[in-house]
Amino acid sequence: MAAPELQQTVGKIAGFTGTALHTGEKATLRLHPAPVDHGIKFRRKDLQDEPTIDAKIENLKTVERATTIGEGSVRVHTVEHVLAALWAMGVDNAIVEMDTNEPPIGDGSALVYVDLIRKAGVVAQEEPRKFFETRDTMHVESKTGTLLVLLPDNKFRISCTQAGPNNRFTQFLSIEVTPAAFEREIAPARTFVYYEDVKPLMDKNLIKGGSLENAIVVRGEAVLSKEPLRFPDEFVRHKILDIIGDLALVGRRIRGHVVAVKPGHASNADLARLVTREQTRRSAVAVSRPIPTGDGGLDTDQVMQILPHRFPFLMVDRIISFDTETKCVGVKTVTINEPFFQGHFPGHPVMPGVMQVEAMAQVASILLFKLAKTTSRIGYFMSADEVKFRKPVLPGDTIFIHAELIKSRGERLAKAKCHCVVNDAIVSEAELMFTFLDK
Ligand SMILES: [Zn+2]
Repeated sequence: MAAPELQQTVGKIAGFTGTALHTGEKATLRLHPAPVDHGIKFRRKDLQDEPTIDAKIENLKTVERATTIGEGSVRVHTVEHVLAALWAMGVDNAIVEMDTNEPPIGDGSALVYVDLIRKAGVVAQEEPRKFFETRDTMHVESKTGTLLVLLPDNKFRISCTQAGPNNRFTQFLSIEVTPAAFEREIAPARTFVYYEDVKPLMDKNLIKGGSLENAIVVRGEAVLSKEPLRFPDEFVRHKILDIIGDLALVGRRIRGHVVAVKPGHASNADLARLVTREQTRRSAVAVSRPIPTGDGGLDTDQVMQILPHRFPFLMVDRIISFDTETKCVGVKTVTINEPFFQGHFPGHPVMPGVMQVEAMAQVASILLFKLAKTTSRIGYFMSADEVKFRKPVLPGDTIFIHAELIKSRGERLAKAKCHCVVNDAIVSEAELMFTFLDK
């Protein structure tokens, strides 16, 4: 098996200064390294306490013309090009520090950010990358004819059709997004705007930093820009750049093929939201395990006929199987309504280890009763040895409690080896000793 891809951050702090698109003011942006699982965060160095904003879809505020994220009253605008460069160049974790509410726009492409990332360097970290694996086809569409489809693929690809008003400048490009392909084919593609869209904004002085130096303006059939087109299909390339930047808000890498028709920030964000929701759903659903039923099991009523314990101390829902006379498996589904979660610990509910030992003891007792074939004697729990708690048990977990009688000495003593399993991993184990007394 190939070694897992590792998370990456920037090698050192690096920055540059330029003009912010909307305010026209000078803006300085600096990239800082960040630890594993940090993700990309923006930091407003110009504000008190230097608040940070997670580059996550939950923080998306507006998608008109550019992508704005925010937390509380703090905003950062036009984040898509710097996010696209970080993501496509393989940076998983970084702080993007700015001294205003918008990154410097550069020439309207992602080249300034690619240069910056090259200056800072990209270094591997010690943890593997997190991926979103596309399993089923997902899509978003809008009334304006936009369609984005995400298909299963073991790489990250984008196939995009761009079409302007009246289908002017219809262009298509399909590309696998790798750092090299991004740098060469996508990053140099500049922002383009339609004259009829920007005229009212220019009149209202809302794009003070906008000029033919950082955008291509399309007026009718004419293309106005300071330097000639960098690619005959520069527009569709920029559309792909924006898709990468907006999908970076998912916060993990996507394995899938995005097929986009007439995409825009709103639909890109809708797809990012859909992927995030699916990822959240997958994380919340524990690996499902069918609970076997059939001969040899005990339902809750039967368990309660054997065990004297009752709520909140009955720690076995049912016995799902007996294996010979000396082994059995019980099951207990742990919900947030368990009384022990209220105090252990508020805000961070974890099932107490002693309750797992109690669960093991109850399952072992059922074995003992089966063996003794009588309920006229009661088994007392004498000692617990080799107790280990390996993983926390959380609300929503289903615990499979395994017990095996390993020794019964005379009529009076018995020893059971037990362990608890959640999602195929052992969470706790113990060796328990019992003695029998007549009731
Ligand atoms: Zn853009």
